[in-house]
Amino acid sequence: MAGRFWIRGGRVLDPASGRDEIADLLVDDGRVVAVEPALAGVADAEEVDAHGLWVAPGFVDLHAHLREPGQEYKEDIASGGRAAAAGGFTSVACMANTEPVNDDPSVTDYILDRARKDSPVRVFPVAAATRGLAGEVMTEMAALVAAGAVAFSDDGKTIMDSGMQRRVLEYSRLVEKPVMVHAEDRTLVGDGVVNEGAVSTRLGLPGNPAVAEVVHVARDLLLAELTGAHLHVAHVSTAGAVALVREARARGVHVTAEVTPHHVTLTDEAALGYDPNTKMAPPLRGKDDVAACVLGLADGTLDAIATDHAPHAVHEKEVEFTAAPPGVLGFETAFAVVMELVRRGQLTPLQLMANLSWNPARVLGLPHGRLERGAAADLVLLDPERRWSYDPAQGFSKSRNSPWAGQTLAGRVIATWVAGRLVHQVGRGALAT
Ligand SMILES: [Zn+2]
Repeated sequence: MAGRFWIRGGRVLDPASGRDEIADLLVDDGRVVAVEPALAGVADAEEVDAHGLWVAPGFVDLHAHLREPGQEYKEDIASGGRAAAAGGFTSVACMANTEPVNDDPSVTDYILDRARKDSPVRVFPVAAATRGLAGEVMTEMAALVAAGAVAFSDDGKTIMDSGMQRRVLEYSRLVEKPVMVHAEDRTLVGDGVVNEGAVSTRLGLPGNPAVAEVVHVARDLLLAELTGAHLHVAHVSTAGAVALVREARARGVHVTAEVTPHHVTLTDEAALGYDPNTKMAPPLRGKDDVAACVLGLADGTLDAIATDHAPHAVHEKEVEFTAAPPGVLGFETAFAVVMELVRRGQLTPLQLMANLSWNPARVLGLPHGRLERGAAADLVLLDPERRWSYDPAQGFSKSRNSPWAGQTLAGRVIATWVAGRLVHQVGRGALAT
């Protein structure tokens, strides 16, 4: 049973209501009981001093790889859940590219069962759109939704067959769940491992062109328009894709989109040292693409910041650049990394919180990401300025593949609560689930 406590004197940021003011927040029995500028007469409540800190809804991650079942040497639901809690995430949607693939209700059941036992945060399985992520046979969407799937995605792979993509979108309407697409045309990506451009030339590595993403976003927007389905574009990385999403939404297409912390803060120049921890799919892009993604967040074209937390073991990543698997850790650094956008004046604190909680909750139709009275007390306490040194070896993930390893970051998650239960606190580490 979660206790009764009040968080006093913090800057309360609740994007759902637009609240941005110094206020107190009272929690009882796992729920938010009151949010008011100066609560009076609170008895029998443990006090949490939040002066100088931000109080916000727990973050909701639309896109993570928890690696269980099948790749527990990289991550599992327990370690990933602890890392998520340390990063302020209270709800995490996990992608289907496990072993076996989450293309069957038995796998969805397994993930949810493990999450109930092992994870300090809420876990929402995303089921595969096609069997084995092979792009050939659709999964049983209704059965997967009945088991608890919140969306469909072949993430990691792109459904190249446009007829299949159309059918996936059509069926998704019947179950009223979004289809999340990893938009990269395989035939245009070829062997590309970094963004095609000056950097790929300098490195002498095969390039992955921006157009590989833009072509598929264009196709999928047209198919979403045709079918009336909810298309969610994962990890947008190009100016072209941002422009297409903006234009499609303006003409009424049901589209949402996410961007990762790395795609809004790093350019392809980060790869100039051949560090495999700068290799991801889609790749880091040029500065014009990065600027367009930031602008997309600022004007609401992009709805959410999603980590694409993608753990890989040291022996997999510490190989030559072309051989390393794409992907980087995301949970524990996300807040500090994207705080850079606030410090530069590109996003307001309230916008940033919307991108991390309220908007992604709405993409999946989850009753989270807000601080209203009666809501589950999924909360995060943030120090927007605190500097800390990030060492993945000291983190909660089983893996260490981060481009920010060894760096000093500014912005720290101080505490995280799920349904009123403290699941992370700086200095004390992860608490019991
Ligand atoms: Zn992906």
